[in-house]
Amino acid sequence: MLKEKVIVITGASSGIGEATALLLAEQQPILILMARRKDRLDALASKVEALGSQAVVVPLDITDRQAVADAFSMIINRFGRVDVLINNAGLMPVSFMDKLKVDEWDRMIDVNLKGLLYCIAGVLTHMKDRRAGHIINVSSVAGRKVWPGFAVYNATKFGVTALSEAMRMELTPSYNIKVTVIEPGAVATELTHTITDQDILDSFAKRRITPLQANDIARAIKYAITQPDHVNVSEVVVMPSAQM
Ligand code: NDP
Repeated sequence: MLKEKVIVITGASSGIGEATALLLAEQQPILILMARRKDRLDALASKVEALGSQAVVVPLDITDRQAVADAFSMIINRFGRVDVLINNAGLMPVSFMDKLKVDEWDRMIDVNLKGLLYCIAGVLTHMKDRRAGHIINVSSVAGRKVWPGFAVYNATKFGVTALSEAMRMELTPSYNIKVTVIEPGAVATELTHTITDQDILDSFAKRRITPLQANDIARAIKYAITQPDHVNVSEVVVMPSAQM
């Protein structure tokens, strides 16, 4: 079903993006792997190719608007299409507001919102012209619920969730571009590695829930992109069984 589909995955160098690439690779799509860490993308590309898929490594920082535009032009010129964009790159240096970690606020807005928008801009005209395509935005349960300490991350993910529903209404009926928002609860990945607020780290250390694995979210993404043409999976929430 996905054979030779051109699928772009941002944030493919670890966690959910990496697991999604490996799961989808079993169906032989052409996988375009984006993130900053080229060594990790190269290692993933080797595994993907061993599973029988073609992989193209595109190292970039998605906050670089021109680099993103150039990358999508290159992909569309080379393969003639992008069938699926999995907008997954993100970071979560959560902190309490009074710590005033303004650089981290900026970074979350730049990557989680603006970078995601730059990638959408990279495919939208092309998908509209083809009247085909699927954009998957990885938001979070933090795009539906707020918690103290998560304010700016919440703001970015509420933004992604709202954007996704508005995109679906604008693009799916008129242009046949499917739009899905995926909202995971806690997943065991490197996402917490950028947290610098010790109070948050201390509270995380006390958490006693069994988190999801990245592959649990990869399966949800695969479900969304393997539905028949008339089915648009608009929103998927996946929670660890023990998380409130
Ligand atoms: P990881 O930290 O493992 O993955 C994040 C990915 O984003 C990495 O591949 C990283 O690659 C990439 N990335 C970060 N900044 C940039 C940038 N400026 N340019 C390009 N790529 C970038 O975490 P997850 O797999 O957990 O996160 C994936 C998505 O899932 C995120 O959007 C996150 O918010 C969301 N999510 C995660 C949850 C969790 O509990 N883990 C829960 C809910 C949602 P590199 O550093 O190589 O650039």
